[in-house]
Amino acid sequence: MGRRAKMVEKVKSLMETHDRIRNIGICAHIDHGKTTLSDNLLAGAGMISKDLAGDQLALDFDEEEAARGITIYAANVSMVHEYEGKEFLINLIDTPGHVDFGGDVTRAMRAIDGAIVVVCAVEGVMPQTETVLRQALKEKVKPVLFINKVDRLLNELKLTPEELMNRFTKIINDVNKLIQKMASEEFKKEWIVNVMDGSVAFGSAYHNWAISVPYMKKTGITFKDIIDYCENENQKELAQKAPLHEVLLDMVIKHLPNPLEAQKYRIPNIWKGDLESEIGKAMINCDPNGPLAGVITKIIMDKHAGAISACRLFSGRVKQGDELYLVSMKQKARAQQVAVFMGAERIQVPSVSAGNICALTGLKEASAGETICSPDSIIEPPFESITHVSEPVITVA
Ligand code: GDP
Repeated sequence: MGRRAKMVEKVKSLMETHDRIRNIGICAHIDHGKTTLSDNLLAGAGMISKDLAGDQLALDFDEEEAARGITIYAANVSMVHEYEGKEFLINLIDTPGHVDFGGDVTRAMRAIDGAIVVVCAVEGVMPQTETVLRQALKEKVKPVLFINKVDRLLNELKLTPEELMNRFTKIINDVNKLIQKMASEEFKKEWIVNVMDGSVAFGSAYHNWAISVPYMKKTGITFKDIIDYCENENQKELAQKAPLHEVLLDMVIKHLPNPLEAQKYRIPNIWKGDLESEIGKAMINCDPNGPLAGVITKIIMDKHAGAISACRLFSGRVKQGDELYLVSMKQKARAQQVAVFMGAERIQVPSVSAGNICALTGLKEASAGETICSPDSIIEPPFESITHVSEPVITVA
């Protein structure tokens, strides 16, 4: 079997194993490094899996390098990452970064269960950091923290090790204050980010390296080594010793929930229907055999395929050719093609099940935020009835 065919098989089998999936987003204040991080995660992890490494690796890396910038246009990119001897499927969904697109951010947040919050080490927590974090927490999306542009603290600002630590402590405390203020009661303590347990990582998305305490323990790399590599302008070697994607995707797998765990508390939060109904129970249990329920997170225009709807499925399964129901539009539509993402590419598959992100073609009238289900089992109310957090909630007497 060829390399690509092997990857396709791997993605297909991981898709059916809930505890091996992570649906995540990256959110940040503008210019803090979201795009650079997304692109370099994909370049580093992309379609490369450990057992396919060797000669292929350089080639794959170049291919992915050529695709730089693609994450901006993709609704989703998927990566396979090995952690503690097991492979995982990580779906990275594009979350628009600007407050102006608040509605889009909310819709994208609905599709993910965890988020990497990127904060620039030079600027620290900024207003949009708070906005995106608030949106994540409102949707019960669990955060981890990546402090980016650490190279600049050393090479431009020439901070001493003590100043560096103070800077990190301040950022972590600022983020945790926001988490404590904005997380729902049940998660105020549990979701605090912590250097020691590895829910905080530091690094340079641009120079492709990152470090966390668990990774330091695993590899013996120290903060002093990091400082030396940066000061000696040897960040290339650092990127080999502590690759950005390894450290960040390890953090994602260890600290962010899989869909089975997340849907238990996220569904009651994002869907106001009867949780005791068949569909309610199926969504809470992320049941691939339940009635179909999903939400469209983004529409992308493709030269060849036309409008493609990226969709998070909460229950059931979409099969190629299935007739679907668009709840807000009150219209039926047929899923002409069902695909999943591999790297930044789409690959057609016969079906996709609950807990996953898929790409559907044929839903011409659909728009982002639309709820999809089967015409035989209509989901009421649709998901989009949730108000966007930065809009005032108007109560009509
Ligand atoms: P976004 O607006 O959050 O998507 O931010 P970008 O990824 O576009 O990054 C904004 C700018 O910061 C770009 O010029 C990047 O090259 C730069 N940048 C991103 N990450 C780093 C980093 O780790 N170190 C340095 N020195 N520059 C970075």
